[in-house]
Amino acid sequence: MTDRIREFLKTRREDGPCVVVDLDVVRANYAAFSRALPDTRVFYAVKANPDAAVLKALADMGSCFDTASVVEIELALAAGASAERISFGNTIKKERDIERAYKMGVRLFAVDCYEEVEKIARVAPRAKVFCRILCDGAGAEWPLSRKFGCEPEMAVDVLEHAHRLGLQAYGVSFHVGSQQKNVNAWDQALSSAAGIFAECAERGISLSMVNLGGGFPTKYLQDVPSAKAYGEAIFDALRKHFGNAIPETIMEPGRGMVGNAGMIETEVVLISRKAEGEAVRWVYLDIGKFGGLAETMDEAIRYPLRTPRDGDDTAPCVLAGPTCDSADVLYEKTPVDLPVSLSIGDKILIEACGAYTTTYSAVAFNGFPPLKSYVI
Ligand SMILES: *Cc1c(COP(=O)(O)O)cnc(C)c1O
Repeated sequence: MTDRIREFLKTRREDGPCVVVDLDVVRANYAAFSRALPDTRVFYAVKANPDAAVLKALADMGSCFDTASVVEIELALAAGASAERISFGNTIKKERDIERAYKMGVRLFAVDCYEEVEKIARVAPRAKVFCRILCDGAGAEWPLSRKFGCEPEMAVDVLEHAHRLGLQAYGVSFHVGSQQKNVNAWDQALSSAAGIFAECAERGISLSMVNLGGGFPTKYLQDVPSAKAYGEAIFDALRKHFGNAIPETIMEPGRGMVGNAGMIETEVVLISRKAEGEAVRWVYLDIGKFGGLAETMDEAIRYPLRTPRDGDDTAPCVLAGPTCDSADVLYEKTPVDLPVSLSIGDKILIEACGAYTTTYSAVAFNGFPPLKSYVI
């Protein structure tokens, strides 16, 4: 925990769980990404944490923004990014939203099929499009499904279709899966991208850009490789597949930019057992899956916990949220070890919660307000 977050929490008087994000950490992460791949422009994935202060800090440092909706575009513009620094990276867009984005000055759009190319050609003439290809997500703790992207062979035809309709066939994108702990995960996708560049060139279409996507991890329970290690592996893969003709590249870190910058403070509401003498206790917090910890789904993301009684003997606990939905259990298949002395009313700190928490929080399920967020 950063000293700044510790000091802030000491002065907080309001009730209920909250996330506190330290902008110094976000700025350090941005600097680390910029250093790791100095020729690659950073497009922060706004969805990871769209807080205005986070976006402003990044915009001030020169970051570009990957957005998924008109509202996210408006947030990036409000943070001070000009439209040239914004991509509309969602492959699933309403035609009228593409038109609104185009009118706001956005010229860079993601596609993964002919139908989306046609929408863009109708309302965003001469815009740049990049085609997303499928990626298996092996090695990722939060893998992405087949929902986004097309087979690399089809990407060539999709880009040619864009070219024929007067759009600028600009490049290729992929996402290797979120919380990707294998620094070599980009190699296969870059090999496919190079193949698409070559095939398009044969058809007289010269592509310019490879979008390396996100996937850069945050440290939860285990250490993760540094941004520098990812940068080196990706640069080696670019060299291997593109030789001396390395294209323009962009990357879209989300989790890796903000994850370790935030921490949630929560309170123990109840500690109980399901039977007399049962070893495993149930610990209920005032935050759960519906309060912002949605990524505990299938126990995929396991957050580090700090209690005021760390150092005492521990025993396994099931950890659950406060709502009346039985799905609101965080860790049960693999229980968490918590101090035997843990008591009702204790405050627990959940680390590395800066990404994918505030926006996943429900509006008012069971009357619980959405997760309170402080950016300091
Ligand atoms: C969510 C998303 C990202 C960010 O992914 P992380 O794994 O959080 O870095 C980047 N690009 C696109 C297109 C996304 O949808």
